[in-house]
Amino acid sequence: MGAMSAWQLAAKGAKVIGFERYRPGHDRGSSHGDTRIFRTAYFESPDYVPLVQRAHVLWRQLEKEGGVELLTLTGGLAIGPADGVLVSGVIASARENLLAHRLLSAMQMRSTYPQHVLGAEEVAVLEDDAGFLRPERAIEAAAARAEALGARLMTDTQVTRIYSSSGGVAVITSRGTFEAERVLVAAGAWTPSLVENVDLRLKVERQVMAWLAITDPGSFEAQRFPIFIREVTGGGIRYGFPTGDGRSIKLGVHHEGSDANPEAIDREIHPADVEPVRAFAQTHLHGVTGEVVDARVCMYTNTPDDRFVVARDARVPGVTILSACSGHGFKFAPAMGELMAGFLLEDRTVPAIIHSA
Ligand SMILES: Cc1cc2nc3c(=O)[nH]c(=O)nc-3n(C[C@H](O)[C@H](O)[C@H](O)COP(=O)(O)OP(=O)(O)OC[C@H]3O[C@@H](n4cnc5c(N)ncnc54)[C@H](O)[C@@H]3O)c2cc1C
Repeated sequence: MGAMSAWQLAAKGAKVIGFERYRPGHDRGSSHGDTRIFRTAYFESPDYVPLVQRAHVLWRQLEKEGGVELLTLTGGLAIGPADGVLVSGVIASARENLLAHRLLSAMQMRSTYPQHVLGAEEVAVLEDDAGFLRPERAIEAAAARAEALGARLMTDTQVTRIYSSSGGVAVITSRGTFEAERVLVAAGAWTPSLVENVDLRLKVERQVMAWLAITDPGSFEAQRFPIFIREVTGGGIRYGFPTGDGRSIKLGVHHEGSDANPEAIDREIHPADVEPVRAFAQTHLHGVTGEVVDARVCMYTNTPDDRFVVARDARVPGVTILSACSGHGFKFAPAMGELMAGFLLEDRTVPAIIHSA
């Protein structure tokens, strides 16, 4: 969110300085692990669709300007009970926004995507405008574009305090104090510690991504195995990607993680961390073994209703906070950056789907 905002602010001619405690592409926050799902027929609400469509345009722009591939469209499968929140939400979103999609019965899935095991009452919706993003590469590309447009980005630089000063807002960092007219705090899971006076009711959740070995790599290539999300019995959501390394696929559980503190989070992987995806693979996928090739810890930073928040800090005029977007924000990042540039520089409002205060 910070890199995309720096890019968009610099593109609008603002004089930008950005601070990053680590380096773009690091694995301590919420934006690592090789891939992020991009999907358009948003089951959470059709109101996200214009925002994700704008992000799509900006992803392509960033690819062009940076000379890198960031978004691979594979199509996307939403699988689950026909009356479940996922399938019905995807269909509602697709219909309301006239998005290309196709409903597939359990039998059609068996012949087209035999990697998935479906019960008789389950169906799938295939949408065209879905695939995956490359998060580390995307952040590096946005940071590079911001710098090319004149932004100064200071890495390995920790912000320790933000307060009102005679010049506007003072930012104390591990490399000195800086003053700015306006400050955007996009510190992900660390946001509450930087703006202690603003209660956004953010909750950090520990998440584990796991790469499980596959028996037939050809059937898990992007052309034959679109990204998927799946509603399982009991209402949980699982998701997965085509193979990137030819020997495993990445799988994850959406939510269901434990509360965490970013400074003290357990980054070790324990057997219980990978058990849910192993159990899921065993019952819901053909050709995925229980062998864990890799697993990594990451963090969601959730708002109470999983919507995004843009808030002004009432006690420090000039400070705006952007929430880390509740475990589904990466796909929106360049559009959020553009919104932040409009919000900070031109006092523009944000779409109603985003809480603003
Ligand atoms: C396992 C997992 C899977 C996900 N899957 C998807 C998906 O498929 N699709 C999707 O759209 N979204 C997904 N998300 C959500 C998405 O990745 C996040 O919404 C997004 O990455 C949040 O970005 P951010 O910039 O807010 O946080 P971060 O990327 O963590 O960035 C915050 C930055 O602030 C820096 N920082 C913090 N404090 C300070 C300080 N004091 N001084 C200087 N720098 C500081 C940190 O070092 C960090 O680089 C997933 C998230 C996780 C964890």
